[in-house]
Amino acid sequence: MEYTTLGRTGLRISRMGFGGIPIQKVDAKATRALMERMAQEGVNYIDTARGYTVSEAYLGEALEGLRDRFVLATKSMARTKEAMAADIETSLKNLRTDHIELYQIHNPSLADLDTVTAPGGALEALMEAKAAGKIGHIGVTAHLEQVFERALSLDWVETIMFPYNIVETQGEALMRRCTEQGVGFVCMKPLAGGALEDAALALRFIMQNPDVSVVIPGMYDVREIEQNLAAVNDASPLGEEELAKIEAVRAELGTQFCRRCNYCQPCTAGVNISGVFLMEGYLKRYGLGDWARSRYATFAKKAGDCIGCGVCETRCPYQLPIREMLARCAKEFGA
Ligand code: SF4
Ligand code: SF4
Repeated sequence: MEYTTLGRTGLRISRMGFGGIPIQKVDAKATRALMERMAQEGVNYIDTARGYTVSEAYLGEALEGLRDRFVLATKSMARTKEAMAADIETSLKNLRTDHIELYQIHNPSLADLDTVTAPGGALEALMEAKAAGKIGHIGVTAHLEQVFERALSLDWVETIMFPYNIVETQGEALMRRCTEQGVGFVCMKPLAGGALEDAALALRFIMQNPDVSVVIPGMYDVREIEQNLAAVNDASPLGEEELAKIEAVRAELGTQFCRRCNYCQPCTAGVNISGVFLMEGYLKRYGLGDWARSRYATFAKKAGDCIGCGVCETRCPYQLPIREMLARCAKEFGA
């Protein structure tokens, strides 16, 4: 396992970490098995969030006796001092620890960053928690380049998390600036929210970029840890065949695809927006047409039920033309 220093935090971390979203699908016992395997393999960075329902609590239970082997990173959607102070306490309790190495402001908009830094904003609570030793460092997570760039201009931001993968390279210039400014870069969405099928290729692509401090694939199965480790531990340069595959994936996916983050929900008409797009991917890309059609048939609300209110589009961090895309799916699925 390759290790690096997470920007000016000084934390020594493995370049592959653990993304804590998928453990919501399992339980604390299964999470324990993952933690044990990661400790054996020297993976020492864990990312979770207040917003990932049971994730912090499962990790807290699973890390009993193993806590000191890991660097813990979590995050909160709180924007005010009072709400952030409460979330930090909840995270400490859930994670069964008295110190969290990295606490991040979860996906703020530009306006949210103004609220966070204004008097009475969340930053005051983070600074107080840092002074009290409850948290070690402060970071920001973002989906939009404008937020990434603003975060880089704030001297209290020690790490930035942003999507980076084969089909989302828009952050590369800002990632370079992270390295120059001593800001740790945490790579999220290594598989583009599930749009990239070849996980090994996706991880090898990311690991070749020295501006990535750590990549955090989501995992809930020990086999996934092993497969991902095999990919990240292969430091050989990308071969011609792999480079050709990367170009083919880029040509096929373009930039207008759903990352399944679900920020667009709830839909006014009850459409499972990311579910519809997922089925479309299976229909068109992965040669699973019959299966996709039968799954789609079980959806209570179909793409054609969209009433065109547009609310979802104001919430999508990737500014996808959701209504247009749903209309296309309604045609493809016939409903
Ligand atoms: S535009 Fe359609 S999909 Fe989006 S929230 Fe409105 S009804 Fe739902
Ligand atoms: S449509 Fe946009 S907000 Fe909704 S899941 Fe896909 S990428 Fe996320």
